[in-house]
Amino acid sequence: MQYETVIGLEVHVQLNTRSKMFCGCPADYQAAAPNTRTCPVCLGLPGALPVINRRAVEYTVLTGLALHCRIPDFTKFDRKNYPYPDLMKGYQISQYDLPLALDGFVQIDGDGDGRTGPLRIGVERVHLEEDVAKLQHFPDDGDGYSLVDVNRSGVPLMEVVSKPDLRSPEEARQYLTALHSLVQYLGVSTGNMQDGNFRCDANVSIRPSGSDTFGTRTEVKNMNSFRAVYQALQYEVERQRRVIEDGGAVEQETRGWVEEREITVSQRSKEYAHDYRYFPEPDLPPLRIGADAVAQLQAQLPELAPQRKARFQADLALSDYDAGLLVVSRDMADYFETALGLRNAADAERPAAAKEVANWILGDLSRLLNQSGHSIAESPLPPRRLSELLGLIAGGDLSTSLAKTVLEEMYASGGNPADIMQAKGLAQINDTGAIESAVVQAIADNPKAVADYIDGKESAARFLMGQVMRLTKGQAQPELALSLVQSGLEAEKLRRQGI
Ligand code: ADP
Ligand code: MG
Ligand code: ZN
Repeated sequence: MQYETVIGLEVHVQLNTRSKMFCGCPADYQAAAPNTRTCPVCLGLPGALPVINRRAVEYTVLTGLALHCRIPDFTKFDRKNYPYPDLMKGYQISQYDLPLALDGFVQIDGDGDGRTGPLRIGVERVHLEEDVAKLQHFPDDGDGYSLVDVNRSGVPLMEVVSKPDLRSPEEARQYLTALHSLVQYLGVSTGNMQDGNFRCDANVSIRPSGSDTFGTRTEVKNMNSFRAVYQALQYEVERQRRVIEDGGAVEQETRGWVEEREITVSQRSKEYAHDYRYFPEPDLPPLRIGADAVAQLQAQLPELAPQRKARFQADLALSDYDAGLLVVSRDMADYFETALGLRNAADAERPAAAKEVANWILGDLSRLLNQSGHSIAESPLPPRRLSELLGLIAGGDLSTSLAKTVLEEMYASGGNPADIMQAKGLAQINDTGAIESAVVQAIADNPKAVADYIDGKESAARFLMGQVMRLTKGQAQPELALSLVQSGLEAEKLRRQGI
């Protein structure tokens, strides 16, 4: 039997506000020593009262607007009660039936496997809640104990819930990439997945192809990279198919992805909303955002990745592929635009300059960044230096291949390209006299190639040019070297014909 996969994602995004969601504690919990970012509110001490972080609400509305959601006039917070001891109050302040944003979509390319795009993946809701404390369990020798770090508890957490519109792990990957890019463009989150700033739970089910009812789903947790989400989904789809084909039934449950073993394992049976005894948070007033505030936030929306990509294609004639890669990260797109701006290309030359800058960023620079584990924002090589390097190539001072060496050196030790080029003796030789001696030597050292050329094999000239490049340590201006080799060979030919 053929099955169709159905996936819905719940993404939790930590907002990078200065203070926590309901108290004045700094939200920079990552770097802080355990339990040094606490106060009576986030410790849940009796009588302490929460206050809503205005910035967090604005960030969530901004995200809702960027996701084409409706912002309802009236929203409120609710208590979500559960027994796990990761919130000192004994409940989480979240939003239940009246979230801040409703009914939006994320556009993805599709294609990948199956459906051709572009596809609109529905966003059910975006709501705001508080993050929970970190628990560390020490179950050794039967005398187990757990340690609690409350620093993270109360950090603003925005949840974006998709509709069950995704049809493959590849579509899920594209959705996550788009959403991740969006929060970074908006500046509402660092989106760092390793640090848990951006976390995804995946709901997945399968059904016979053509069926219009959903199958029973499982919810998979514990993935901390896009790759892990993709792998976990693939695994889970396959596991469910086997369960069904063996005559069993998929159980609705929460499963955990075990990275080292590349499998999901059952964690607990699924809770239902009624288990949480939701009720309106009595310590907080409901919110009326108001049309004016929404309009103001709408006006603040920056240019996002899809528009920026379209602009790069229309104004700079970049390919769909290059433009798509450049805009995924706002930092990379900014780096590109800064470096290109510094090239001061005339209008007619801008597409060629753009292509050249894009090639260097997506090629050599990205390779160096990957090797050293830097993000482009942390690049030891600022856009100004890349632009200077391209200036040296354009001016004929440096060959493209030696420029790669200069780039690596700049990346490793800083400094400007002109100095490095001089210090390392990499400057291009544009002087006929200086190249000619190498041409004479190449001709003298390679009688076979010379004979081939005289016999009509013109490619032998390219070989000899390669020898000239080698003799000049790559510094000869390549076209000049080739033309000098050709005149040298022609002269040799005439000489041999005794003219
Ligand atoms: P809960 O209240 O249990 O979290 P929701 O109805 O809010 O459940 O749905 C959570 C997520 O599960 C959403 O992203 C939704 O798209 C997805 N989902 C719902 N039903 C299915 C299904 N049958 N298969 C896959 N995903 C589903
Ligand atoms: Mg849920
Ligand atoms: Zn606090």
